[in-house]
Amino acid sequence: MSNSIEGKVVVITGASSGLGEATARMLATQGAAVVLGARRAERIQALAAELVAAGGKAIAVTTDVTDAAQVQRLVDRAIEVHGQVDVLINNAGLMPQSLLERLKIEDWDRTIDVNIKGVLYGIAAVLPHMQQRKSGQIINVSSVAGHKVRAGGAVYAATKHAVRVISEGLRQEVKPYNIRTTVISPGAVDTELPDSATEADVRENMRKYYADVAIPADAFARAVVFAMQQPEDVDINEILFRPTRQEY
Ligand code: NDP
Repeated sequence: MSNSIEGKVVVITGASSGLGEATARMLATQGAAVVLGARRAERIQALAAELVAAGGKAIAVTTDVTDAAQVQRLVDRAIEVHGQVDVLINNAGLMPQSLLERLKIEDWDRTIDVNIKGVLYGIAAVLPHMQQRKSGQIINVSSVAGHKVRAGGAVYAATKHAVRVISEGLRQEVKPYNIRTTVISPGAVDTELPDSATEADVRENMRKYYADVAIPADAFARAVVFAMQQPEDVDINEILFRPTRQEY
């Protein structure tokens, strides 16, 4: 795998907004072929059309990451069109935070299904292909909440800790296959993430906090580019970044 972005085939889950969308834009501009997955088909189709119209390479595949078969279909489509997958970015996620005493069991289930199982399904979908090629990079998105927890964030933080643990286990297991593994843990970035809160008071507080603190999604896309651009013998395993003004 070369250390340039140009020509790489990159599958991105959660590409319909926020970090995934910003990353798709930056990578396509730099010559990658991006394969966009998310549930909102019209959003990823419009983004792919826009990137292609600007001279880039992009396709959209409607994908719900809680369904392993759909994640496999996303990856298979990338291989069918481009012959290979160089990078998978397991980015899809949500953050419906609330105190445990509110007993939002449906939120807990969804958060675990998307943030943990979705990542595992992504790994399952690309691993045999990357093992066979003895090349590839899997980038998983954790969070500052993958490093610490506070009241209201127990389940979300648990899922983001899990992403880091899974990534470290994966890192050790894929040594024989020359596969690189990267975890990126952002602080507050200006995306639609606060909208995923189902409790109105939590959502409002989150929106206010993000309005005060969050930085543009390009910060994340640049971290992806940095990790992808290293020479093949350099494996950037973890990047943790925050807005300079973020205390938590
Ligand atoms: P957004 O809400 O803007 O984007 C979330 C993306 O995930 C959307 O594209 C959404 O697409 C997708 N998604 C949600 N559920 C599913 C699903 N079941 N199947 C497929 N895609 C799904 O938030 P961000 O861009 O901020 O979030 C991206 C990642 O970054 C998440 O993992 C989040 O936890 C992480 N993160 C974000 C931070 C921030 O401050 N923004 C900080 C730390 C981590 P669709 O609804 O179309 O399916």
